[in-house]
Amino acid sequence: MTHTSSRRPEVAAVPCPDYAPESCARAVEQLAALCPALQAIRPGQRVLLKVNLVTGLKPERAGTTHPALVQALCAWLRARGVFVTVGDGPGGAFTKAYLDGVYSLTGMRRAAAESGAALNADFSVKQAEYPEAAVLKRFDYTGWLDGGECIINFCKLKSHGMMGLSCAVKNLFGAIPGLTKPAYHYLYPAYADFADMLIDLNEYFRPVLNLADAVVCMEGNGPTAGTPRHMGLLLAGESPYALDLVAARLIGLSPEQIPTLERACQRGLAPETALEVPLALGDGFPKTDRPESPWARLDAFRIPDFQTPAADAGMEVFLKGQGFLARSGNRIVRDVLAVRPRLNAPQCVGCKRCAGLCPVQAITMQNGKPRIDRTRCIRCFCCQEFCPAGALQAKRSRLGDALLRWVH
Ligand code: SF4
Ligand code: SF4
Repeated sequence: MTHTSSRRPEVAAVPCPDYAPESCARAVEQLAALCPALQAIRPGQRVLLKVNLVTGLKPERAGTTHPALVQALCAWLRARGVFVTVGDGPGGAFTKAYLDGVYSLTGMRRAAAESGAALNADFSVKQAEYPEAAVLKRFDYTGWLDGGECIINFCKLKSHGMMGLSCAVKNLFGAIPGLTKPAYHYLYPAYADFADMLIDLNEYFRPVLNLADAVVCMEGNGPTAGTPRHMGLLLAGESPYALDLVAARLIGLSPEQIPTLERACQRGLAPETALEVPLALGDGFPKTDRPESPWARLDAFRIPDFQTPAADAGMEVFLKGQGFLARSGNRIVRDVLAVRPRLNAPQCVGCKRCAGLCPVQAITMQNGKPRIDRTRCIRCFCCQEFCPAGALQAKRSRLGDALLRWVH
């Protein structure tokens, strides 16, 4: 596959065992030595550090970019005379009142204060025309992203109900103001179109560098209600697709299980497999019996049993390998195998948030609990993502799970 992207294809990885300040400072220092894009940022430039603040979660929940790493990166940039603004457009009102609470809960307020960075205080919304886009020809975005010379995208490695993986590419959805995000799910209900929309955002904003906090990732019911899982890595790449390919491999997913990677490959923006991505590794990787292979050393950090709903991944892989079923019973098989939002009723606190944000009004409250109309649901997983009690989970039916187990 020929790359049409001009970004360097390498992905850099350095070990970072924990979020202790000295571990983070060492990891950032090592990473910077491997990333020409970081070294190219000049004193006096204004950098916008787009972190993942998906919703107001404490750092130990592993749903947001960890403030210790944000602080270490900001300190590295500030020491070189670079001005840094930290921000995001999480899933709520894009207002000072809402973001003030998110900055405090996620630890960003302290990280910024301790490193000399600023927190974004521009809550304007702008409109973009993007005729070259595959699908996103016109859109609203958070205006602060125009306020600097360059953007650094600093995401968290997580499982994701809809896209399988939340990492660099998905993080740019934060450019869309929080309360309008469901409308974009409504506009792009097909997973391939939604993936194209995310890729369009990445191509429009083109961060100079993408970093992934993979020290403690989130597995299971991600991206907000999953379980922390230690990996011990900090990753970076100029190409968000190359970075996500490497991240996916580290959590045991193949590119065809992730719509953004499949579409990026089809659009000529990414190679077909992670093994085609050149690696640059820092110090501290374990020695292997193949010292000449950086992949052998990075693979020591792989978590093959990482839990992810991987959305429809299992289904698509299954259908590709089952010609008869795929031809004869495609709709029925898809229906049985589809991952859907499922309610764990005892956990539900009846807040109605899911019903309020469903882009297709598929949720009605009955006896204080949500009821999902499967015929309307477009499986965007907004309800699962923003349920404050983690009561909705992205899951396949028991029959679907049994069918996949039987096939494998
Ligand atoms: S958002 Fe969660 S807790 Fe609130 S009503 Fe829906 S399922 Fe229940
Ligand atoms: S019920 Fe949940 S997953 Fe289905 S469309 Fe509504 S918000 Fe999306």
